[in-house]
Formats: sequence, structure tokens, C-alpha cells
Amino acid sequence: MKSETKLKFGRKVVSVEEARNLLYSYAEQLDTEAVPLFSAFGRRLAVPIYADHPVPHFRRSGVDGYAVRSEDIKHASADQPIRLNVIEMIPSGTVPQHTVYAGTASRIMTGAPVPDGADVVVMLEMTDSFQDKELYSSWVSIKKNIPEGSNITPIAGEIGLGDLLLAPGTRIGAGEAALLAAFGYAEISLYRKPKVAIFATGSELLQVEERLQPGRIRNSNSYMLAAQVEAAGGIPVLMPILSDDASQVRSAIEEAFHHADLVLTTGGVSVGDYDVLVDVFEQFNGHLLFNKVAMRPGTPTSAAWWRNKLLLALSGNPGAAFVGFELFAKPLIQKMLGSLTPEPKAISAYLDVDYNKSSAYPRYIRGTTLVQNGSLWVKPAGIDKSSIMISIKDADCLIYLPAGGQGFERGSLVIVYPIPNLRSQSQIF
Ligand code: AMP
Ligand code: MG
Repeated sequence: MKSETKLKFGRKVVSVEEARNLLYSYAEQLDTEAVPLFSAFGRRLAVPIYADHPVPHFRRSGVDGYAVRSEDIKHASADQPIRLNVIEMIPSGTVPQHTVYAGTASRIMTGAPVPDGADVVVMLEMTDSFQDKELYSSWVSIKKNIPEGSNITPIAGEIGLGDLLLAPGTRIGAGEAALLAAFGYAEISLYRKPKVAIFATGSELLQVEERLQPGRIRNSNSYMLAAQVEAAGGIPVLMPILSDDASQVRSAIEEAFHHADLVLTTGGVSVGDYDVLVDVFEQFNGHLLFNKVAMRPGTPTSAAWWRNKLLLALSGNPGAAFVGFELFAKPLIQKMLGSLTPEPKAISAYLDVDYNKSSAYPRYIRGTTLVQNGSLWVKPAGIDKSSIMISIKDADCLIYLPAGGQGFERGSLVIVYPIPNLRSQSQIF
């Protein structure tokens, strides 16, 4: 058998998980860069962050009121209020000057340091204050016994000195941004964003600005993938359209490896006469990782380790390219960015349609989620054919249907992989 026929027809099928693990085993850990905190949202930390001070670092009042000794107000009641001499006013941002001794209190604001001697802060609402004009002094009367420690956050009450705050690989969201700011990280060390070169292959393809011509279509895949790369946290680099010419494709990809961390192609991985990536893989100095995945769409999705970089060759059909990106390229980009859990996250939802088509391979159907009576339901985003492009904009998840012939009834619980940030109309993701 000629090797060409072998690559086209004698392919060894791997599962989606096997294919992903193969890719992971070749994923390069990218170098790091220092980034201003304000530009770091959505990116991942390259280093662990430890607390170099406790929080709070002083005994902090949680309310507006009076810092007193619990001993002094032990017998306070509405009938027999306890009168204390107010010795100081402590606004937030200042440091108390006086110790609270027996019979005294200090007026204190939320967030201010509790003075020595005081072991409780009584809320303003539970007190009456008054001035003694003759003595030029002010007094507070307290009508309730409040237990020791009330309304005071002790030193390290929230975070201990040396605590691990954020592990490497953590994505910086609102809570992480708050922590980093609180600990003085004006700049942080992040993994560099991978540069992802995107090639479209196919002699039928026109540039987006070209007029339609008989028998030809505009290259839509590259723009779809660029949006997906950006949403995944990478830097998309749009490369020229390549015609179905193996030597042109080979040299263009080899050249791109000089600049890109990952190369994506669409088209030419199937068993047609002009499937150019197959011809490239016949004669190249790289290592073919897989060229057939147990999935639909995108069964001929292929990948290679070539010149110490990864090439992911997706199907040309827009639906298949979209799904292939979400299943393989996105986790890869997440891994390069330092994620420790890069896999698509599975949730479950009720199927909102009967689905009767059987399949020899698991299906990953572009789906639309909807909330009905407080539960998550899902339905195919449109006609479920890999050549269909119009429904991609309505997809906010992939519906996973295992291989087999029995079909699925409306109301079945199915596995769904959300695709956040891509569908502007999504109710949920
Ligand atoms: P292929 O995988 O090369 O056989 O392509 C499968 C189908 O996808 C064909 O109908 C192609 O015309 C179409 N296709 C391939 N590449 C693109 C692209 N970049 N944009 C839009 N459609 C494409
Ligand atoms: Mg083609």
C-alpha cells in the first residue's frame, strides 16, 4: 500500500481525551512577563502570591461607635446605662493616641484601629452621647452589655501572614484583582499570551475584501478562529490564505513556526484528492500525533509536532473548525497560559428536542442554552451539519451525545460544555 493511501484511509482513531492529552504532552510552557495589574484582568498568574502581612494588620473596628472595655459595660442595661468619659476621636486612617482605661471610651469610625485597652466596640445606635459644657468634656452612655471582641476584627482575622493567596495559573477576576491590589502588586508576573498563527487552506477561498466569484467563497474560518483565539486568551495572527499546494503550505507553516507559539490551519485534512494537509503530512520532518478523532463533526482533525511547535489542523467545514477549536485549541491555549484545569468544563442540562440521529462517534453539537422553570435546557443551535455556518453565532455550548444508535428523547439529561464569551445573546454564559 502506498503511504499516501495509508494516511488517507488507514488512520488510527483516537478519542477526544487521548487527542487532547497528546497535545498537552507537547504544550510549551511560555515565558513570563511583568504586566500592570490594571491590564491583567482575565489573564493567569505565573507565580504564587503569599501574604507578606496579615489582614487586617491592626485590630480593626467593624462599626461606627465607641471602643470600650467589656468589663466596664458588664452591667449596662436600658434601665441602668453606664456612663463613660470619651477621651479621643479616632477617624479611619489615623492611629489612636490614648489607651482606654476603666471608665473611659473612645469614639471610633468603621475601619479605624481599635485603641489599646478596649476589647469591644459598641455600635453608635446603642449609645447616647452628650457634652458636659461646664467641664468641657463629653460622655457616652451605653445601654447594653456587649460581649468581649464584638465588632473588632483581630489582627490576621481575615488573612494570616504567609498564607498562600493565589496559586500559579489562577485567572485574575474581580476577587483576585482586589487581593493583588491589597497586597501592593502594581505589577504582576503573568504567562505571555501565546501567538496563534491562523492559516486557511483551499484554492476556493477569497479574501474578505474580494468580490464573490463563481465557485468561490470568502475565507470565514480565519476570522471565526481569530475571535475564538482572542476569547481563549491568545493573540490571533491572521496568515495568508494558502492554495491547495503542498509545498506552498509546507513552507508557509514552517516559516510561521519562527514567530508563532501554535499554528492552526483549516481545510485539507479529509480524504479528498486536494486535501493538502494530508499531502504535507506524507512528507514532512515532523511527527504526526493523530489524524482521526472519534468525534463528529471534525473526525479528520489532525495534529503534528513540528519544529518544536504544535500544528493543529482543523477541518475546513466551519462547524467542524469551530468545534475542533473549542475541544483542542482552546484547552491548549489555556494550558500555555498556565491553567491547571484547561479542559472544557462539563455541566448537565435537559435536552429540549428529540434527537434521533445515531452516530458511530460521540457528537459535539453546537447548542443554545435556555432557562425554563429554573432549570437549564439545551437545544441544537440550528441545522446540525458541519458545513453550516449560520448557526455558529447562536451557539453558547457544545452538547455532548455519546456514540450509539438509540437516540435521545426530549427531557433526557445530557452533558454540555459551555462556551462563555462568544455568543452575545446568550442568556447564561
Ligand atoms: P475541506 O476540509 O478543505 O475539504 O473543506 C471543507 C469545506 O469547508 C469546503 O466546502 C470548503 O469550501 C469549506 N471551507 C474550507 N475552508 C474554509 C474557510 N477558510 N472558510 C470558509 N469555508 C471553508
Ligand atoms: Mg479544502
